[in-house]
Amino acid sequence: MMRFEYFSPTRIVFGRGKLKDIANFIPQESSRIFIVTGRHSSKANGALDLLKSSIQGKDILLFDEIEENPSVQTVNKCASIARKEKVDLIIGLGGGSAMDVAKFIALLVTNGGVVEEYLNGKVPVNELLPIVEIPTTAGSGSEVTPTAVITMGIIKKGYSDLGFFPKLAILDPTVTLSMPYEVTVNTGLDAFTHAIEGYFSSRATPISDLIAVEAMKVIKDVLPVVAANGNDIEARSQMLYASMLGGLVISQTGTIILHGMSYSLTTFYKVPHGRATGVLLPWVIEFLSGGELTLSLQEKIALITKVVGSTDEIHKFVNSLGVSTKLRDYGVTENDMPRFVQDVRGRRNLGITPVKVIEEDIINIYRQAL
Ligand code: FE
Repeated sequence: MMRFEYFSPTRIVFGRGKLKDIANFIPQESSRIFIVTGRHSSKANGALDLLKSSIQGKDILLFDEIEENPSVQTVNKCASIARKEKVDLIIGLGGGSAMDVAKFIALLVTNGGVVEEYLNGKVPVNELLPIVEIPTTAGSGSEVTPTAVITMGIIKKGYSDLGFFPKLAILDPTVTLSMPYEVTVNTGLDAFTHAIEGYFSSRATPISDLIAVEAMKVIKDVLPVVAANGNDIEARSQMLYASMLGGLVISQTGTIILHGMSYSLTTFYKVPHGRATGVLLPWVIEFLSGGELTLSLQEKIALITKVVGSTDEIHKFVNSLGVSTKLRDYGVTENDMPRFVQDVRGRRNLGITPVKVIEEDIINIYRQAL
């Protein structure tokens, strides 16, 4: 019997040149706007200047030091600036890192304290500040999700709150044009795995499945095109669309063991997030195909094989983008197994994986991939 929920409250504005129209879409009552972004790319590609000139007349504060895999310290620092300056709207401009930090700031400004308290279970009681997200990569999908990832110590932690759903996502493919090859590939693989993992998640719904299949098809066709020619605005546009679709999927379904297992590669070997998920993709699909499968899971595996390819073809697809699917090529050895497994232990991704996963399975997948 069919039974599901679907909630996706973010206003999505998509189109070439839309960033310069942003003033038409942000809440009129917002007057003190805090922009958070990374050190380089949004300046190099002109997105930051374009954003600032498009919201002239508002007070603008800028924090432009968001690092890759942002830390709790960065978030807390931004939040104290935002509180002191009494900002009333947060804009995240950049990849997943900047967009995720924007969400945590929006929470901390109205609810007080430091981010660690919330990661450890404190529940926010006040409404968050409104969040606007402007992705400059085509990967995380964070612009439409209620989730953000932060690094505490050496551990990457996910946090979800309905207030994290951005009020507005501005998707303008022109700001993704200048992404370098590696970033294009890494973030594209992240979007690809979001769609695939969301499709397999035990929280998948009929609507999220429709979106997931569409996202997979587009990325399979278009990621090689945009990797070969980063100036292809139509292909960039398709990738930005598909990564947003991937975000819509995981906003309903979460991600499964593939994401859960990828964090250790990022934590211990500095493999960029999306790349780490691409490395493990064929191995996890192989694992999912190997067990005793329910009918619906068999159907899903069959569809993946049709749309994305067999596991051999998935290896070839990922390899063709210049990404090895062998862990040893990133420096991983048998000696890493204990700390890798330790990193996966207790992650909520495990609970929504559609087959039962025990620690031995996790080790086996990593070992196969060595
Ligand atoms: Fe991801």
